[in-house]
Amino acid sequence: MKINLLDEMWNLCSSRLVHRRSGTMSSLSVPKPACLNKPFVAPHRFMFGPGPSNVPPRILEAGANPIIGHMHPEMFEIMSDIKSGIQYAFQTQNNLTFAVSGTGHTAMECALFNALEPGDGVLVAVNGIWGERATDMAERIGAKVNTISAPPGGCFTNDEIKKALSKHRPALMFLAHGESSTGVLHALDGIGDLCHQYGCLFLVDCVASMGGAPLYMDKQGIDILYTGSQKVLNAPPGSAPISFSPRACQKAFNRRTKPVSFFLDLAWLANYWGCDDKPARTYHHTGPVSAFYSLREALRMLAEEGLEESWERHRTVAEYFHSGLEDMGLKLFVKDKSSRLPTVTTILAPPGYDWKEITSFIMKTHNVEVSGGLGPSAGLVLRVGLMGCNSSRASVDMVLSAFRDALQHCHKSKV
Ligand code: PMP
Repeated sequence: MKINLLDEMWNLCSSRLVHRRSGTMSSLSVPKPACLNKPFVAPHRFMFGPGPSNVPPRILEAGANPIIGHMHPEMFEIMSDIKSGIQYAFQTQNNLTFAVSGTGHTAMECALFNALEPGDGVLVAVNGIWGERATDMAERIGAKVNTISAPPGGCFTNDEIKKALSKHRPALMFLAHGESSTGVLHALDGIGDLCHQYGCLFLVDCVASMGGAPLYMDKQGIDILYTGSQKVLNAPPGSAPISFSPRACQKAFNRRTKPVSFFLDLAWLANYWGCDDKPARTYHHTGPVSAFYSLREALRMLAEEGLEESWERHRTVAEYFHSGLEDMGLKLFVKDKSSRLPTVTTILAPPGYDWKEITSFIMKTHNVEVSGGLGPSAGLVLRVGLMGCNSSRASVDMVLSAFRDALQHCHKSKV
């Protein structure tokens, strides 16, 4: 009813405008784009690539709620619910827990830009594209980056990490829990303690793993943890949960220099999210209201299922998927079973085939998105993401039959 009223107001207003303009010469040199004459209707696709994943109707509907002010009391309540949802999903008591307005990269920059100052040492574990990107970001702000590298598909031992910490004495260490370019799930136990032993903050990227594999921010000594909305959470891209431990706050709030980004300045964001001790919140930026509605619903769905239940579902579905792939003669890229990411699976590009032909055949014939490799895995692998609501045996069966079909119909050269 209310929506109809708004529609009518708009129609009335635009018909008046048309009336007033008719007969007068236009001052515009750029005409109305013809492409905008018709509305856009998104096709339905099975989003089984590394993200974004499908968004369930409940979350889409939550996002379609009417817009309210980003600083209305109801919005502050939603933000407080989101904070509690993230604390649950991350398993943390950290007060400074919120969602960055932006995608996973924004959260990544929020973490690095606030925790590091020019000249600070940072140790980046590089076993795929996310370590490479973290290196690039840290270099841009004048941090001194040292890396440890493992071949794509590989991991680091705690001993290797300890040696690098003791050699470089960094202020911060970066590690991807779920390396979505290579399909690796990195063990975290003990690394937080090692970092703290060397006076270093532990920063973890869980964009591709949160909700899909066990993760305990506080117990594992993680100082900064961030994720994205569009993977296991099944919300639209555009908001990115993040949390800072008291140790990380100590560093971020006692800087000699201002963070390079105003938009990502933690002091401003802490105030916007009601996480500081100031009596009132000040306008910083206009939060993405609809994205926050969706994120709240996504966190609600995760809490409804239960975090442990969600981890277990992703584990069993991934196992079912992996054995189905191997039965078909396909080879998994990550050799060590315990290091396989349950959310994003990397499959060795089948010899003799053009991987691009396979992904486009599957899209065209089955309406299913799967993708090729990224960064160091480009050309080497196919990637399939089964995350959140897409992590089911039914999705696995659909992907397996699409692959079977592709291997039969795509061109195969002699190898
Ligand atoms: N880290 C990891 C592990 C990711 O998988 C992604 C998204 N593919 C990102 C960071 C960046 O997230 P976004 O694309 O939302 O910026």
